[in-house]
Amino acid sequence: MNEAVDPLTAAAGSGNPAAAELADERILGAYGSGDGGPLVVCVGGVHGNEPSGVVALERVISRLRDRQPTFRGRLLAVAGNLPALRAERRFIDRDLNRGWSVRRVSEVLERPAMTEDFEQAELLRVLVPAIRSAPGSCLRARGQRLLEDRAAWPVTLPPRRP
Ligand SMILES: [Zn+2]
Repeated sequence: MNEAVDPLTAAAGSGNPAAAELADERILGAYGSGDGGPLVVCVGGVHGNEPSGVVALERVISRLRDRQPTFRGRLLAVAGNLPALRAERRFIDRDLNRGWSVRRVSEVLERPAMTEDFEQAELLRVLVPAIRSAPGSCLRARGQRLLEDRAAWPVTLPPRRP
């Protein structure tokens, strides 16, 4: 998993151009040290015609940074479907909010073809290292084992979008 970009490093600006690019667009922000609490990952704009989630997350991160409240655990705010957000469309080729089972993710990563396949891979480049390095529990999407079973996460991610 050496190819993965640590979101905190990316957000802080590591000097790595790829990480900086990721931090600019994908990572909306992070708050908290992670000590003594869970990792909470919020993804806004999974549907490109719903940008309000991105705006809300930017506001939450901004307020947290301004007020510096004690925060056990860590909040990571991430933008979802960047091409669809730019196009102000729900999705480009397929609904990004479908296909997050372990089996489906593995299939997508093996043979990425559609815009959202690559988008899913890019999200996983952020989410996998964050979840793997989380000291405590992880928030789990209802009915999905993906975030619960860290060992089941795909080890190999496809190359970046050409
Ligand atoms: Zn939606």
